[in-house]
Amino acid sequence: MAQHFLVLTYPAQGHVNPALHLSRRLARTTSARVTFSTSIYGHRLMFPASAADEIVEDGLISYLPFSDGYDDGFDSNIHCPSEACDRFRSASSASLAALLRRLDELGRPVTCIIYNMFFGWADDVARGHGVRSAVYWIQSAAAFAIYYHYFHGYEDLIKTHSHDPLFEVNLPSLPPLKIRDLPSFFGITSDEDPYSVVLKLFEQLFQVLDREEADSAATVLVNTFGELETETLAVSAGKVKLIPVGPMVPPSLLEAAKDEPEFDALGDLFRPDEKKYMEWLDAKPERSVVYVSFGSLAAFKKRQTEEFVRWLRESERASLWVVRKDHEQAQGELEAALREAGAEGMVVEWCAQGRVLSHPAVGCFVTHCGWNSTLESLVCGVPTVGVPQWTDQGTNARLMEIWGAGVRAESDAEGVVTAEELRRCVEIAMGGGGAAGMRRSAEMWKHKAREAVAEGGSSDRNLRAFVAAASQ
Ligand code: UDP
Repeated sequence: MAQHFLVLTYPAQGHVNPALHLSRRLARTTSARVTFSTSIYGHRLMFPASAADEIVEDGLISYLPFSDGYDDGFDSNIHCPSEACDRFRSASSASLAALLRRLDELGRPVTCIIYNMFFGWADDVARGHGVRSAVYWIQSAAAFAIYYHYFHGYEDLIKTHSHDPLFEVNLPSLPPLKIRDLPSFFGITSDEDPYSVVLKLFEQLFQVLDREEADSAATVLVNTFGELETETLAVSAGKVKLIPVGPMVPPSLLEAAKDEPEFDALGDLFRPDEKKYMEWLDAKPERSVVYVSFGSLAAFKKRQTEEFVRWLRESERASLWVVRKDHEQAQGELEAALREAGAEGMVVEWCAQGRVLSHPAVGCFVTHCGWNSTLESLVCGVPTVGVPQWTDQGTNARLMEIWGAGVRAESDAEGVVTAEELRRCVEIAMGGGGAAGMRRSAEMWKHKAREAVAEGGSSDRNLRAFVAAASQ
């Protein structure tokens, strides 16, 4: 029977992007049929002109959404976080079952569901429908191992010290990590916290993996590559089979897929800024620009904006900033500072980040260290200044230090990075003061990352072997 993968994803930018790259790579390299499915809310943002029940085709894969019970988006100001987990689970399960039936009726039966790490419930639906399933872990293997150990014996230790950011924790197969390097959700103490649901979703996933492990080894595709996280991948998580298939980045960043730039923005949930930032970059000398972006979710405090403004006034470096529409005040303050200081810079609401990072003018990336941004910097060989905010970003900032490709900015008692600290870190990442080693490490990872996904590379072989095994 022809293979048909249904790739299910959560409707956030940092989830949609790697799921879309995986879907298209699966279809391109193995000729399998692939349907990409996110919630109705996410689907509408991706395809505003299409009806929710209409199949969208892009010439390579198909798109059809499911309902997660929050068709107008989840809003913690309106919806109750403590009820969200159950509502999300029951609505999504029912809708996924209906979607599978519909695809059967259309003569496109699904043979394997690849589901997002928040969707442990999908495993039951797959079993009920008699199809295989695999998890898609869109963070690092290190983050997987940390969550695994948290739910397998280390919860008490971590919780007891969660108030002490510098307390060191030694987990199997991982380098020593401080509490601040672990996922921020471990520090949540109240069910009313809007993000308490996230830890519950992870817990459900690990319960599913434990159940699978009892039957046979559970399969987890990981958005990383073997050469980057060798030790963690080898022994991190009991019998769970971690399969590195990344880095999943915009295809135009990879040598092998230079012909696909039009698909880079396919999954964008934000409107790109119309300012001519690429032309602006074209006019800048090589490696002279500091690119600053905190991804699709992170917000910075008012005092943090003030410190950024102070840095802009004092710095001679040209900089390109992404400040989303929901931070209008910060946009205005940064733009005013650029004007006043006569500094060279531009503030945009959203950009094609892959193209920016691969532009020769970009010298370093001041980032919140979302995993996609981290992988994109590695693939482009751009050193990072880590300003982690929450979730796995502290882990990623630490990993970039360990890999020699990034420096982590220290925050003060209020969690703010001062202008002086930013200056210190930017100068290191730009290669000043004899710090050329960071650029060299970044270049080395760039080559290894590209090799991993090129034909015959470790991730390419893993993806093909996964598809071959799924057809047996
Ligand atoms: N991104 C983008 N344009 C921007 C800012 C971000 O295309 O102006 C993309 C970025 O390339 C990455 C994703 O949005 O693929 C953000 O994912 P990440 O994991 O870095 O952070 P999150 O948004 O999940 O915190």
